[in-house]
Amino acid sequence: IVIAIVLANFFSRSITARIKSVIDNTYKVPKGEALTPPIGGSDEIAELDQQFHDMVDELYKAQQMKQYLLSMVSHDLRSPLTSVQGLLTMLAAGTFGEISEKAKKRVETAEVEVKRLIDMTNDLLDVERLASGTLQMEISATDTDHIIDAALGSMTAFAEQNGITLTRQGENIDFQADGDRLVQVLVNLVSNAVKFSEPGTAITLWASISEDDPENIRFSVIDQGRGIPETHINKVFEKFQQVEASDASIKGGKGLGLSICKSIVEAHGGHIGVESVSGQGSTFWFTVPRT
Ligand code: ADP
Repeated sequence: IVIAIVLANFFSRSITARIKSVIDNTYKVPKGEALTPPIGGSDEIAELDQQFHDMVDELYKAQQMKQYLLSMVSHDLRSPLTSVQGLLTMLAAGTFGEISEKAKKRVETAEVEVKRLIDMTNDLLDVERLASGTLQMEISATDTDHIIDAALGSMTAFAEQNGITLTRQGENIDFQADGDRLVQVLVNLVSNAVKFSEPGTAITLWASISEDDPENIRFSVIDQGRGIPETHINKVFEKFQQVEASDASIKGGKGLGLSICKSIVEAHGGHIGVESVSGQGSTFWFTVPRT
């Protein structure tokens, strides 16, 4: 009996140690850490461990392929697209000689489509860079007026085309952040607000700092548009999420804008959110630490 107990104890310890090695490796994969070498042997646990190692090798190979594809998209696709866009702009402006009104309209349509492709490529690249941590925030001194002015500068024409007025509120506040990236967030929020509002309505951009929370600056984009139903309010910040199936074709975009905004705001140590009632407009807000 004693020999049996000693042997049972020995085998159960050895089995537990081998299973633990497999379990430890499963925790290493999401963290991107190197796996411990295969445990070896010819039993079922060794087979499971070997299968797991092979599976992870395949996974890493697929990730490398994804990186390769992304760098290909950035260098081999974006650059020629930008050249084509420049050429179309020049063609429409008559740089290579006057063209008929009909041709001009066609060229302008092509220009819009190429711009849409470039925007989508940039969005995909941003999503990946933010997810892999390769997009670094460049923090320097800035102020809320600078961020709002820049966002208004790039969105006013788009808003006017859609019959929407952009207004601003709040005083100027100094803080430290990656100004260009925060402008990108604000532009994205205003662009959405314009897309989902009716002509004749207004959108307000607001920067504030409350007495309860003096450490954080709060930016808000308030629209009087179609709003977001309760069922989607927590989903819109996820990748490829759109409220209406027709949003992509009618309004443009692929449901990536808000997930990029979220990553940028969180990279600053801030938060992003939305308050909305379906049919009664939305208030998208984000906070960033002052320092
Ligand atoms: P997209 O680039 O496709 O607009 P976003 O991630 O920016 O993607 O937005 C996701 C979805 O959230 C939109 O397709 C739309 O359905 C909804 N949404 C975003 N902003 C607003 C808004 N201001 N008003 C109503 N719906 C909005």
